[in-house]
Amino acid sequence: MQRAESAPKPQSFDRVLSSMCTPPHPDAREAAERFLATNPGDPATYAGVAELEERAIELLGEIASLAEPHGYVASGGTEANIQAVRAARNLTAGDVNVVAPESAHFSFRKAAELLGVELRLVPTVDGRADLAALEAAIDAETALVVAVAGTTEYGRVDPIPEIAALAEERDVRMHVDAAWGGFYLPFADREWSFADARIDTMTIDPHKLGRAAVPAGGFLAREQRTLDALAVETPYLESRSQISLTGTRSGAGVASTVAACEALWPDGYREEYERARANAEWLAEECAARGLDVVEPELPIVAADVPEVSFDALREAGWRISRTGAGELRVVCMPHVTRGVLERFLADLDRYVTGS
Ligand SMILES: *Cc1c(COP(=O)(O)O)cnc(C)c1O
Repeated sequence: MQRAESAPKPQSFDRVLSSMCTPPHPDAREAAERFLATNPGDPATYAGVAELEERAIELLGEIASLAEPHGYVASGGTEANIQAVRAARNLTAGDVNVVAPESAHFSFRKAAELLGVELRLVPTVDGRADLAALEAAIDAETALVVAVAGTTEYGRVDPIPEIAALAEERDVRMHVDAAWGGFYLPFADREWSFADARIDTMTIDPHKLGRAAVPAGGFLAREQRTLDALAVETPYLESRSQISLTGTRSGAGVASTVAACEALWPDGYREEYERARANAEWLAEECAARGLDVVEPELPIVAADVPEVSFDALREAGWRISRTGAGELRVVCMPHVTRGVLERFLADLDRYVTGS
């Protein structure tokens, strides 16, 4: 049967400037469709996709410089962050707290609430974790320190080796949230990976910059005992235990992760990073030339101070844009945000903001 003209359609990405998702790579789309009816949550029954998941973790480990990676493909960064907190809690006796910079993603608030741990958010300096503030917040009950490699708001990278050294000194576990930044960072000359620091766990999401289909998040651990700390018994499945937070999981996410990584790692991801970086620098200059206050991009996210009325007019014109907590307009340079898209955006910006 032919698909009706009136079949529901997703949005176009033409004017999406503030999302951290992007159209999947063609190979990833195709793999996702093939594996729609598979469940890696039941590996004994769905053995093919379970094997693919091992490959996915191997590839994510390669990207994050972890030679013998442990982990699984989660539903997203939220689940991976919850699991990092949960593992730390389960491996630490007594009441525990988690110390994180205030730039940490809101999923840590969910994690803290769900798991009954105290979340200590400490101030940042220029959008990055402040080492002295983190140190002051750590006490005998701290189970985990979180650092962010590519903050959601500004794309900032925390001083990860220094934070990891502090965590080691205080005998606290260390988690890096690279949910968004993980696929740009291998090319960005930053210290963020398992090779750069003594990191216990990492979040790295294929469904953001990895160009896999939604949902595909990545949870990586240096040691098997971290996964063991997450296992619950599963009496009526063929397999005996399960580490994921969700039960039935997306085989499409797993298969599309492998397909995207095999198509793009490393050269394709490098090219996407270079293009995004050039676009972000260009956009930042163009905004500054129009007299707007611009936050210097570190990873390719541009934040610029645009008056409220103009922001609303741009939204009216169909631009999908969001604001930072401080009120700046935020443009995330994803693969679909091409120079042509940004040129059209600037033309509208001129119409609605600078009035030229
Ligand atoms: C997007 C994001 C998350 C949450 O990931 P979801 O896939 O939306 O659950 C967590 N941390 C960071 C840094 C992110 O950018």
